[in-house]
Amino acid sequence: MSPKITDKSAKTVAVISLGCPKNTVDSEVMLGKLAKDNYMLVKDPAEAEVVIVNTCGFIEASKKESIDTILDVAKLRKSGNLKSLVVGGCLAHRYGDDLKKELPEIDILFGLNDVENVAQQIKGIASPKLSWQTGEHHHEEDLKPMLPNSLNEATYVYDASSPRLLSTPGHFAYVKISEGCDLPCTFCIIPKIRGHYRSRSIEDIEKEAKNLASQGVKELCLVAQDSTWYGSDRYGRPQIAQLLDRLAQVEGIEWVRLHYLYPSRVTDEMLDVMAKYPRITPYFDVPLQHASNHILKSMQRIGDRALLDKLIARIRSKIPNASIRSTFIVGFPGETDEDFNELLDFLKTSQMDYVGFFAYSQEENTPAGLMENQVSEKLKQARLAEAYRVQEAVAEKSHQRWVGETLTAVVETVENEEVQGRTQYQAPEVDGVVLIEGLQNPKVGQWVKVEITHGFQQDLVGKAVSQGL
Ligand code: SF4
Repeated sequence: MSPKITDKSAKTVAVISLGCPKNTVDSEVMLGKLAKDNYMLVKDPAEAEVVIVNTCGFIEASKKESIDTILDVAKLRKSGNLKSLVVGGCLAHRYGDDLKKELPEIDILFGLNDVENVAQQIKGIASPKLSWQTGEHHHEEDLKPMLPNSLNEATYVYDASSPRLLSTPGHFAYVKISEGCDLPCTFCIIPKIRGHYRSRSIEDIEKEAKNLASQGVKELCLVAQDSTWYGSDRYGRPQIAQLLDRLAQVEGIEWVRLHYLYPSRVTDEMLDVMAKYPRITPYFDVPLQHASNHILKSMQRIGDRALLDKLIARIRSKIPNASIRSTFIVGFPGETDEDFNELLDFLKTSQMDYVGFFAYSQEENTPAGLMENQVSEKLKQARLAEAYRVQEAVAEKSHQRWVGETLTAVVETVENEEVQGRTQYQAPEVDGVVLIEGLQNPKVGQWVKVEITHGFQQDLVGKAVSQGL
């Protein structure tokens, strides 16, 4: 990760990236920018004079993790080399100066429009500086305390010319195809943090894909708030099918994986392109949030239970062995036992592979945050446990379909003779892995054919049958 910088006086900088892959991409652009500006990048924050915390701020749990991380880093002022604690990302953009008042440990705070200005920030160079309030550049002393509900528009999105240093293992990389979201989900603060939907051009994304392929990247994980809406703002109608078609033809890229699909926006056009190219992984990451019509309506989600059932059937008719990932919220205001049982029933009928559940987080500045009938924390936790229990049984059964199959896998880790990999049906960092037995001289990033011998609710086990794709 850290290119050798000869200038010994160069400041040492560590970047801590929290939250989702979209934030990971921002952190990697910061790393690229800092390397370009001859900062000495170090992995261990304890070694760094400057630590940048790229925060997440969309729900209570992630806010807590960000604040705990900031406070932990602040302790390095005594125990480490820390001279400057710099905070950016969603929590910084959401709360602005209020965060700095709450946490005087923070030296410099910057917003989402300053991802590529980070080097200036830590050099303490005046402009550009902290443009999260008006999108214009202001000197620090001009800043007015920011009211939580006067969030200003994030307008930045990187492009293929942005310097970027990958923080993921070299064989896969996230590619952010758009930023922001215009949907009205009543529980979600993201549109107010990340701004309106804005797509990069197909040419720009293809250019980045070729750059990454030339660096040895084999798998592209496409991320956005909503990938199915890609291009609508720029080309007048969704262009995700056209983008996939282009990326599937980039030399050197073996897997193109699509994340964050909005259920009612999954078109037959994109399903056909996904079915056409083996390079596009048969993998569907579709956050559904709930399955009860009553709750979907209250969440202002487009679509009802019938649409969700039909979507699962459409995916499986076009791509029979597709792997499906989703996320759901339990304990949304007004959620009755009947609503919750509807969700459990949907888990049993849809047989999805990987599912994450969140206990509803009451967020200020969101319509749901003001709703009556908030569900008690105790009931939320009970429903969370029940949802996981039901899903684990579903996944255990559904993963038996891989036993006896020979799948392509990439080696992710080799530790103490345990070799973990991922098949085309498993995304990095969020899904299960395949434990690979009998692979001679295993190396991270190596491709191998694996005959699956066991399927469990999360992971698979298999024996290596041949090397290569
Ligand atoms: S689609 Fe809904 S949940 Fe997702 S980022 Fe947009 S508003 Fe939030």
